[in-house]
Amino acid sequence: MSDTTTLTSRSELYIAGAWSSDAERAWIEVENPATEQVIGRIPEATARDVDRAVDAAVALHKSGAWRDTTLADRADVLTEIAEGIDKRAADLQALYVTDQGGLSSFAGFTSATASMIFRDTARLASSLDLGPTKRDTPGGSVYISREPSGPVAAIAPWNAPLVLSAVKIAPALLAGCPVVLKISPETPLTLFVLAEVFSEAGLPDGLISFLPGGRDVGQYLISRPGISHISFTGSTAAGQQVMRTAAERMTRLTLELGGKSAALVLDDAEPHDFVASLTRGSVVQTGQVCTTQSRILVPNSREAEWIDALTAAFETLAVGDPSDPSTEVGPLVSQAQVDRVESYVTSARNDGATVLTGGGRPSGPGFDTGYWFLPTLLTNTGPEMRVYREEVFGPVIVIEGYDTLDDGIDAVNDTEFGLGNGIYSPDVDRALALAPRLDSGTVSINTTGACITAPFGGMKMSGFGREGGIEGIEAMLESKQIQLP
Ligand code: NAD
Repeated sequence: MSDTTTLTSRSELYIAGAWSSDAERAWIEVENPATEQVIGRIPEATARDVDRAVDAAVALHKSGAWRDTTLADRADVLTEIAEGIDKRAADLQALYVTDQGGLSSFAGFTSATASMIFRDTARLASSLDLGPTKRDTPGGSVYISREPSGPVAAIAPWNAPLVLSAVKIAPALLAGCPVVLKISPETPLTLFVLAEVFSEAGLPDGLISFLPGGRDVGQYLISRPGISHISFTGSTAAGQQVMRTAAERMTRLTLELGGKSAALVLDDAEPHDFVASLTRGSVVQTGQVCTTQSRILVPNSREAEWIDALTAAFETLAVGDPSDPSTEVGPLVSQAQVDRVESYVTSARNDGATVLTGGGRPSGPGFDTGYWFLPTLLTNTGPEMRVYREEVFGPVIVIEGYDTLDDGIDAVNDTEFGLGNGIYSPDVDRALALAPRLDSGTVSINTTGACITAPFGGMKMSGFGREGGIEGIEAMLESKQIQLP
């Protein structure tokens, strides 16, 4: 494992094939959310950095030095990056705990998932045919080729930035597109390690750049001429702004946005079989996951049983130091997140909701500093309340009853979002038959989240386009028809 200070304090940015410093850059302080201690600082990218990164990506694309390589050669590069990530797994895991407040027991999963994404994208190269392929159609014979769409602006949020960046970078590179990645200022450190992995691979200048910065840096990046595709993950409000900007130049878009997903618990599901899975799913990354099923919908006939079981399970969750392997719920990422989460609970209380457990910040030893909020279960809410309708992005879950199965399905779909709903039942065939009736890009059965090496994304206000799997690579390709006389 590398020296901690070198990993948490950086003076240079990796842009277009080189590490560089610049006196004009401002500094971003990086905090440990469990302690509020400043653990280091990193430079913030300037507009000049964005220009350099985009110009280099455009020049590389024009030169053909990446675009014209074979899929097999590009797959080899991705495999090399996957191996580089594996070699740096210990550093990546330590930084996930210190700059995000992520659990050490979950950290291994995040670094392993990132390398798996690069490796699996490389594997998919053999199933892609970029053409040109002859196609006989009623209107004539044509050749169809699929070409890289061009430089990609990739924008990742602060939650699990390594994984959420990997799922943008790997498909774009395999498709033949250079990438300019905008890193969130809250949790930048793992992506500096990824930049080192890339810099050690000796790739063409302009293939990838890493630009830490806030919304202004992202906004400037996506408005730059030369960007052909914007791959954005973040809130729905920011996604709407990104879409408006993309409209100026008709830039292609993938939007992975917020959610307000539901777990539909069927009448044949027994609490003792599923309460552990529902509870774990509710508090993964302290609820800071886009697919968190923050509305648990149970049959009215069994509501009391479920309330008792889930309340008891939430109350026994171990909240505390994320570096302790026995901890089950760590801190939120920032004070702003604590304030946001608290405001949802306050407004729910004011509107008449019942707090079954949690509902505030923990107190006592270990909680004097840090961004804490207790796992919270609410009931007596409803579609008219903000906590039921809007994404909280914290460990705040509502449990409500439904009458008939049709009512339950209507309740799942009664939201402007459509990301990662779930169904809980011992009868998997029954659940599978219901999956098409849920309006979301992902439906999980007896679990939560999404498989990141298969297509995932949203419907409705949760965005459009798919990342992951062959579909994630195809999103970065343009089909071209070549017509013969
Ligand atoms: P955010 O929307 O505030 O920011 C996301 C990223 O976009 C950041 O890097 C930010 O600097 C940048 N950004 C914001 N406005 C921009 C603009 N106008 N132009 C360019 N860049 C801009 O979201 P956040 O708080 O960082 O992340 C949490 C949100 O992300 C939640 O809503 C969550 O649901 C969503 N999310 C979605 C998925 C998914 O796959 N659908 C995955 C993870 C997180």
